[in-house]
Amino acid sequence: MAPSKTKKKKKVDTGFLLFKIKSSLEMRIKFLSPLFALVFMFVLPSCNQAQQKHSQQEKAKSALEAPELNEVVDADQFFLSLQGDTLYPVVQTAEQWKAQLTDFEFRVLREAGTERAFTGEFWDNKKKGIYTCGGCGLPLFDSETKYRSGSGWPSYFQPINKKNVKEIRDVSLGMVRTEVVCARCEGHLGHVFEDGPKPTGLRYCINSVSLDFEPKGKK
Ligand SMILES: [Zn+2]
Repeated sequence: MAPSKTKKKKKVDTGFLLFKIKSSLEMRIKFLSPLFALVFMFVLPSCNQAQQKHSQQEKAKSALEAPELNEVVDADQFFLSLQGDTLYPVVQTAEQWKAQLTDFEFRVLREAGTERAFTGEFWDNKKKGIYTCGGCGLPLFDSETKYRSGSGWPSYFQPINKKNVKEIRDVSLGMVRTEVVCARCEGHLGHVFEDGPKPTGLRYCINSVSLDFEPKGKK
């Protein structure tokens, strides 16, 4: 008799156990449902925000590359190539510039270095043409405005377009000077001084290594 009693008791226990599991599951669902709802309330909007942020970044990026036709673009935000094509500002990391430039170009253009006088490629260049930025190709100076300054660096009395060259106050080396950088990529070009010839009285003293040269007549 004893074994069957035990068996019966076991059967009852299993039923009770099943009931207990079932009710515990129901309880968990009851308690967890609001928790899931809460998680969805916080996680979904934040996903959405991340997505919105991402699409905003994409938009900013594409606006930089090519704005939509009906979009109003600030006149200071774009430039013209020699062929008259629209050029947008160039923003790159130091690593990207390093991959694109030689070590010396990087030193001068991105770290405001200076080439030694009378050593550059263009200080004595007398050919007709356009000098462009060695970093981004923006037209900067016309050979018509180049003159012999005797400094050993290519010198011009005016840029091809005032908006293509940006001026920055430079107080390095214990002097107050005006640094000039490319307005499109902010690459260091040189300095501008007020001891130039007529008609402007300015001397744009530029590193050859910051420049490329496009001879006139070349397509
Ligand atoms: Zn540039």
